[in-house]
Amino acid sequence: MKRLLSGIKPSGDLNIGGYGGALRQYVNLQHDYEAYFFVPDFHAVTVYQDPRKLHQRTRDIAALYIASGIDPRKATIFLQSQVPAHAELGWLLETQAHFGELKRMTQFKEKSDGKDTVSSALFTYPVLMAADVLLYQATHVPVGDDQKQHLELTRDVAERFNNRFGSTFIIPEPIIQDIGSRVMGLDDPSKKMSKSNPNKNSCVHMMDSPEDIRRKFSKAVTDSEGEVRHDWEQKPAVSNLIEIYSVFSEEDISIIEKRYDGQGYGTFKKELAEVVIEKLLPIQEKFHQIVDSSELDRILIDGAQRAAQTASGTLLAAKKAMGFVTF
Ligand code: ATP
Ligand code: MG
Repeated sequence: MKRLLSGIKPSGDLNIGGYGGALRQYVNLQHDYEAYFFVPDFHAVTVYQDPRKLHQRTRDIAALYIASGIDPRKATIFLQSQVPAHAELGWLLETQAHFGELKRMTQFKEKSDGKDTVSSALFTYPVLMAADVLLYQATHVPVGDDQKQHLELTRDVAERFNNRFGSTFIIPEPIIQDIGSRVMGLDDPSKKMSKSNPNKNSCVHMMDSPEDIRRKFSKAVTDSEGEVRHDWEQKPAVSNLIEIYSVFSEEDISIIEKRYDGQGYGTFKKELAEVVIEKLLPIQEKFHQIVDSSELDRILIDGAQRAAQTASGTLLAAKKAMGFVTF
């Protein structure tokens, strides 16, 4: 059976970018794979997180997985920090990753840009990500476009390890969709919509109220042409909005273009907001039912046990291959 692993960091309030690039794919793919969805809380702390907020957001992300339609009876849902093998394999793989290749990671460049100090964990975090994926022998990893480079690093490190120590890890493939894999900021279509972006009008959060969603889309930048046409080169802002529409309505781009032909941006943006609201309302409702429930605790405890079983087998194989004494 093909196996899938992916996760969303509890580093901020989840926005519709993470939904388009990741969460929506999780929901669609869970039936065709043996699926593991985890909350990478160790990754979140590569940048300072207020402990109380981290605690709440970790539950929030897990609850959003379920509220969005991931079935915990089918998929394994767990917290990274509950499975110690991640940190252990992360360390072993750091001995195989090269300083030079980590220095080339564009996410590190972007996230460290302009900061006086950055944690060394921010620099090495792609290696921990490699450990996350390889521990489960995942064949496929659904990600947004921004994670493509990190997944290539995962493949390189796995191949290097296999060549040196014997075949241990499955080499994973990314799954990146055509539409929705790079949702850009509503204020600036050259920057991706991100949890860590301080400009609150740049992104729509999964838990935003209908009024906030309407206001944010009405303020979203467009261009002076007035034509609803998908063309990333000429019309990046409008193309971004069309893709968001397509993600939430699950309609083809061409249908959307036809519907709004000659209608101008005002109508399009208004109806876009309603399409997003309609999808988010039931997710928000379910979220509130489960986020503080003991059912969520049970799902996460059970998930961590199942995950640890798979992970410990791979970790043992990797340690043996490297020559560690194991009993
Ligand atoms: P941070 O700014 O802290 O990195 P983030 O919003 O990028 O947060 P992540 O947890 O890093 O969220 O990413 C979770 C998943 O969502 C990844 O697969 C990532 O590729 C995808 N993703 C994040 N932002 C977007 C976006 N704007 N468009 C499409 N996919 C995205
Ligand atoms: Mg990110």
